[in-house]
Amino acid sequence: MTYDIQPAGSHYIDGAYVEDTAGAEIPVIYAATGARIATLHAATPAIVEQALAAAERAQAEWAKLSPRERGRVLTRAAAIMRERNHDLSVLETYDTGKPLQETLVADATSGSDALEYFGGLAASLTGEHIPLGEDWVYTIREPLGVCVGIGAWNYPTQIACWKAAPALACGNAMVFKPSETTPLCALKVAEILTEAGAPAGLFNVVQGMGEVGAALVTDPRVAKVSLTGSMPTGRKVYAAAADGMKHVTMELGGKSPMLVFDDADLDNAGGGAILGNFYSSGQICSNGTRVFVQKGIKEAFLARLSERLKGAVIGDPLDEATSFGPMVSERQMTLVQGFIEKGIAEGARLVTGGKRLDRDGWYLEPTVFADVTDDMTIAREEIFGPVMSVLDFDTEEEAIARANATEYGLSAGVFTSDLSRGHRVIGQLRAGSCFINSYNDAPVEAPFGGVKMSGVGRENSKAAIDHWSQMKSVYVRMGDVEAPF
Ligand code: NAD
Repeated sequence: MTYDIQPAGSHYIDGAYVEDTAGAEIPVIYAATGARIATLHAATPAIVEQALAAAERAQAEWAKLSPRERGRVLTRAAAIMRERNHDLSVLETYDTGKPLQETLVADATSGSDALEYFGGLAASLTGEHIPLGEDWVYTIREPLGVCVGIGAWNYPTQIACWKAAPALACGNAMVFKPSETTPLCALKVAEILTEAGAPAGLFNVVQGMGEVGAALVTDPRVAKVSLTGSMPTGRKVYAAAADGMKHVTMELGGKSPMLVFDDADLDNAGGGAILGNFYSSGQICSNGTRVFVQKGIKEAFLARLSERLKGAVIGDPLDEATSFGPMVSERQMTLVQGFIEKGIAEGARLVTGGKRLDRDGWYLEPTVFADVTDDMTIAREEIFGPVMSVLDFDTEEEAIARANATEYGLSAGVFTSDLSRGHRVIGQLRAGSCFINSYNDAPVEAPFGGVKMSGVGRENSKAAIDHWSQMKSVYVRMGDVEAPF
């Protein structure tokens, strides 16, 4: 890799790296070995101030450009990101521990898709003309202003790009705070945007824990907050943003259902369940962690699944043959181990996995529980690790009711060879991002986001534009004003 893992500064503000060692230390730990690979510092109030001031200045200039010019910067950034995919993927692997086999195809690639998509869309973002007889109204799509993005640790490049691309396309500036667990990748996004021609200050990165996020969210200069994180954090951030009447997008957690009917193609359903539970070691918000399997095929499904899990290549994430890596941190591994213990204690049947691997780093085996019931902790709470719960059901009606019996509503999937059933069932599942005979695809062209406690707003697609811009309407009277007195 040509990148140094230790960045030239902890923060990226006004087009350059900045350091302030007065901020609390943020150690960057490589999940595959447990070794410290870099040390960054949390933003002090002075750093937060610098970032917001830079964003405010840059936004005023950026909004004056034609949308096509703005789009060109994003498209150029997309191309640079794609050219550097290999190095960016290696850095993503160091930041998160995810296998290179995944990061090469899912991170900088997905980030550049977003930059390219919103870069292309920028020039077509317009208002409308509304005729009212002689008078008329026209609308102007305006930016919101200075926006704050706050990221989770599972997809640091993708999250930064999914927020920055539509925000910048709409004429906003951004201050982005990555998760303190994975602070490296967003800095590269900032560097690339500068290189592509973004004005200094347009996209700034500041590091820190929750307090830094909270300082950004409550600043009166900030017009919008987009958070990717857990539901409890979402509650706090949404409430803080509401106090300042700010716009929000909340991309939060889930406990999503995957329904496998007895007419499903078992290999496809097994593949979907593997992707939806073990990709990124299960650290994906939209995962289908409650796999409802119709009773008649339950044992065949489990047997096929156990067989396929033997094919997982667990090991060094930098080896491209590795298909399953460590958990992001020791803390996350310990949390997940706690859930596995609860699953066993509450009577679920451990079909496979369940143990920590005897090697350095934070490795857990891919774990499958069967005979899980709706009241068990592992069926109710988001685990965010490689733990699949298999539940069984008799009828379609029952499966839908049980699938919906959760406070979350991020994703849902159905596997069946009966197309009408596929659409009928998805129509009744209360979730934002759904799949028929597939799982966890997230193309930038499709809206992504949850219902219920999984969040508000949508990322990606044309739908995101409404969450990063606002309409001004202008009434134009062609005749005289008639006043009563
Ligand atoms: P987290 O909620 O602990 O932290 C998310 C971010 O919020 C971090 O950057 C953190 O520093 C910041 N934060 C914490 N307290 C804050 C506060 N009071 N004010 C402002 N910012 C604050 O989440 P995590 O552990 O980093 O990530 C895992 C969670 O993220 C899971 O629940 C997962 O489902 C969710 N997630 C959701 C999506 C999605 O798009 N829906 C994607 C990835 C992850």
